[in-house]
Amino acid sequence: MDTAFSRRSFFRLAAAASAVAAFPILSEPDFALHAATTRVRSPWELPPPPGAVRINANENPLGPCKHACAEINSLIPEGGRYDFYRTMELVNTFSAMEDLKPGYVLAYAGSTPALHYSVLAFTSKTRSYVTADPGYEAGMRAATLNGAQIIKVPLAPDHSHDVKAMIASDPNAGVFYICNPNNPTGTITSKEQIAWALANKPKGSILLIDEAYIHFSEATPSIDLVRADNDVIILRTFSKIYGMAGMRCGLAIGRPDLLEKLQYFGMNSNPIMAVSAANVSLKNKDLVPMRKKINTDIRSETFAWLEKNNYKFIASQSNCFMLYAGRPGHQMMAAMAKRNVLIGRVWPIMPDWVRITVGTREEMTKFQTAWKESYNSPVTADLVLPELPPSLARNPYTHLS
Ligand code: PLP
Repeated sequence: MDTAFSRRSFFRLAAAASAVAAFPILSEPDFALHAATTRVRSPWELPPPPGAVRINANENPLGPCKHACAEINSLIPEGGRYDFYRTMELVNTFSAMEDLKPGYVLAYAGSTPALHYSVLAFTSKTRSYVTADPGYEAGMRAATLNGAQIIKVPLAPDHSHDVKAMIASDPNAGVFYICNPNNPTGTITSKEQIAWALANKPKGSILLIDEAYIHFSEATPSIDLVRADNDVIILRTFSKIYGMAGMRCGLAIGRPDLLEKLQYFGMNSNPIMAVSAANVSLKNKDLVPMRKKINTDIRSETFAWLEKNNYKFIASQSNCFMLYAGRPGHQMMAAMAKRNVLIGRVWPIMPDWVRITVGTREEMTKFQTAWKESYNSPVTADLVLPELPPSLARNPYTHLS
């Protein structure tokens, strides 16, 4: 393990990575991999070390459900087909479940394209992007590419989005991004706060409500706001509770005239195994409650252990939470990686905190041992990480999570 820390190997691998053409980081797995593997361990091109506890990227260790796996397997021989109708089947299943009229749902290979296109469509050089801090950063990257001003508004003291401050921040904003529950804090913004933002936002702007983690939480979904034809786009993904991050499937849900603006940036054929597995997963009514309970139970046990040991954390309703590291977060990431436990990222506004994903019970037991050891260990020179070369920071496969 220690070899992964040596400066020599870091720079050798960094140099290899920098030979690749530069693209922007796209989304959450990008960020997680970027933070956890490029900075701390091995660059993006290498698989994680054998036996690593991977609680760094807000993935679901359970993977696709049994029925989804069977569907994926059965479709391998069909891999030569575009089979667009399979995307329509998914869209129709979701629309029926959520009582949405035709034309209110678009499917993408993950929610990342939907997030990027929404930001590109509704921000501009004169219409800013307003987001929470700490918050999920992918939209900021799209806003930057669009030349839009980015306004970061700190979370309220209860870690909800400070919607009043967000709305007050710019009368010319184009997009107010609300991630509910928030990534990285896993905290909730109430339906009342969201309704207030909607009622008070500037004309021509949209609320972009990212519900990637909604199924883990008690948060009230906002789809009724779309049903009522408001200026709202909701993002959903099959990467989280459905365990399909590697399959790539997500949805944009909004009024047809809003979704039309996203299509300007291109529509692609979706991976047929992904959309069909997503469709099967939606139809499995027990799946979400069952997985929500698994996550809640393990998260509660982890919080009980943290409390008992006097570690400071932010109570979360998601599959991730922020934990105080007592030192620069990157050093804690390095210390944990040395023990083969990959933990998540650090946000500049909370430099001494790290994000932890809730893994399996077995993984969280390993996490506890490694955390205690790391927390009690002195900071040593090998834990002070070199800065990332800019070429590596622009790596296309260092996806956010
Ligand atoms: N939105 C949030 C808040 C996320 O955390 C992530 C990924 O972790 C995404 C969107 C993108 O997910 P995907 O593209 O896998 O659907």
